[in-house]
Amino acid sequence: MPDCIFCAIAGGDIPGRIVHETEHSLAFLDVNPLAPGHTLVIPKDHYARLHELPDEISADLFSTVDELVPRVEDAVDADGSNVGINNGPAAGQEVEHVHVHIVPRFEDDGGNPIHAVAGDIPDLSDDELDDIESAIAE
Ligand code: 5GP
Ligand code: ZN
Repeated sequence: MPDCIFCAIAGGDIPGRIVHETEHSLAFLDVNPLAPGHTLVIPKDHYARLHELPDEISADLFSTVDELVPRVEDAVDADGSNVGINNGPAAGQEVEHVHVHIVPRFEDDGGNPIHAVAGDIPDLSDDELDDIESAIAE
């Protein structure tokens, strides 16, 4: 995709600190790390949103994440990690090429759990929860 920074990294057109590569996926260090070892894992081909990934690409991406999490944690001696995707601009996605963040975490690093990403916390009734449950299940 022209003008996509992650396509440019995947294509070797701009440099990246690449830490791992598979047939369909590429992992490299985030240029503005939230923690030492902050790593991004992307499909090599351009897809903007998670649901657009073909099954084979998705399987390769998530098995790569699965393999890399302990390697990243070990490399920086982390105590844990947050693994997440900003899926769509409303969720904070700035680069419109699917990417999984692996953010190493350290005891007492002053950060927050993934629950902290939400805005106003809703107070949902049982009826509303029933409707949501049905809507997703259908
Ligand atoms: P988003 O908000 O889209 O989930 O996160 C995009 C991430 O990409 C940010 O953490 C940002 O620091 C990182 N990023 C943006 N441009 C570049 C780049 O050119 N190279 C690398 N390695 N990371 C980038
Ligand atoms: Zn792209």
